[in-house]
Amino acid sequence: MNKSAVPSRAELCQTLAHLANDSADDIVSRFYARFLDEFQAQVFLSSEMVEERLKHSLRHWIVTLFSEPELDEAAQRQIGEVHARIRIPPSLVVQGANLIKIELLARLETLPMALPHLVALIRVMNARVDAAVAIMTDAYMARSVQRAQMDEAYRLFELGQDITLEHERQRAELMEWSQGLLFSLLEPGMRAPLRRISASPFGLWVVHRAGLLFDGRKGLDDLVAGLRKIDLQMLTRIEAAKALGGPDLQPLVTQLQRTVEELKFLLNEMFQSIAAVESGRDPLTRALNRRFMPTILSREISIAAKSGRPFSVLMLDVDCFKAINDRHGHGVGDVVLRHVAEHVLYCVRASDFVFRYGGEEFLIALVETGAEEALAAAERIRTTLEGAPLRLPDQSETRVTVSIGIAVYGGHPDYALLVDGADRALYAAKTAGRNRSVLAA
Ligand code: GH3
Ligand code: MG
Ligand code: MG
Repeated sequence: MNKSAVPSRAELCQTLAHLANDSADDIVSRFYARFLDEFQAQVFLSSEMVEERLKHSLRHWIVTLFSEPELDEAAQRQIGEVHARIRIPPSLVVQGANLIKIELLARLETLPMALPHLVALIRVMNARVDAAVAIMTDAYMARSVQRAQMDEAYRLFELGQDITLEHERQRAELMEWSQGLLFSLLEPGMRAPLRRISASPFGLWVVHRAGLLFDGRKGLDDLVAGLRKIDLQMLTRIEAAKALGGPDLQPLVTQLQRTVEELKFLLNEMFQSIAAVESGRDPLTRALNRRFMPTILSREISIAAKSGRPFSVLMLDVDCFKAINDRHGHGVGDVVLRHVAEHVLYCVRASDFVFRYGGEEFLIALVETGAEEALAAAERIRTTLEGAPLRLPDQSETRVTVSIGIAVYGGHPDYALLVDGADRALYAAKTAGRNRSVLAA
């Protein structure tokens, strides 16, 4: 080979393939010395299994990466899919690829060759590793999205089961465990260890099913922590006290019963929160849950953009609501919110969307509606409420007024802009004296 002329790509690959082959074992060892902990954390593998399986795979990857003039894309895709299955994140793969590049570079630098040749080798090496990582990441993402969709579909399936029935059943299982425990404490001379709650039907349900149902809810951690506390602390203490010939167990038992009550309360709260999500509606007002707003507004904006039809949103806020709360209490405040929501829902069409946006704020999406009609709809809502007396629990009568800001879709794809516009118009309505509708400038 002529030392000064830059060789062909095939020849460059050949040089790289030799180099990779010669140094693969060494690079693999360095690689795992550096990432072993992270791999074990991600994949729950023993170090022997990392040694056996992953080292072998990585070695194969390094050796074959340059063995052909063109990158084997299918192989990289397959690796990305494996990463997705065993949950090795792309960030870790990128770090690993960088480490391999550095190792190869260090060896390239020792080769006796002219600078242009060396530069060409480095370019090919870099480009090849980057291309492989890009394909792996792509495949990983595709798989992960697919899995997220499956997870969500399964969660919806779980939610579709009869929630009320499941709640009753789990409450009964919890009570059965706690009564069984109290019963065994009454036995003179306790022979067997106390039955752990984590081994009861309720405990098993918490570990294996509640996670799916209450996905990401804070109460779930508290529930799991409660089970651990009962098993690891309370029951052990009760057993020890009993073994000592039964000093007064009552305080320990009372404490245990209190913890069981807390678990019941947590369970209740979590079931209530998913009942609301299940229907997608706010349980107090029956308006749509705000978390669906981005999906629906984005979708309506894209429909408006494609069809050329208008689209408007209203931001509605109850006037002087704090005063109502302060004067009559929160319970009456809630009655007022329901009254407002009922009238809003009555005034809009079935094709429109009403969201509970905040405490006493509602966002209303009016489909196929331009400025003039939106203003008319807002006025209809406002005057209907103004003219609808509300009887309070103390038999007094009140009238609730609202202020409304209106914004019309003007072609921008970001729905937040539309919401901001309506919010600003609402602020103008408030400062102009309340009980009015204002169209955004
Ligand atoms: P403005 O006319 O300027 O809108 O005055 P406001 O008093 O209505 O507005 P502000 O934002 O000061 O008060 C809103 C109050 O709504 C504060 C909070 O106590 C109350 N609130 C928020 N969410 C709820 C709820 O779910 N139920 C009840 N009863 N009150 C709520
Ligand atoms: Mg407000
Ligand atoms: Mg208000």
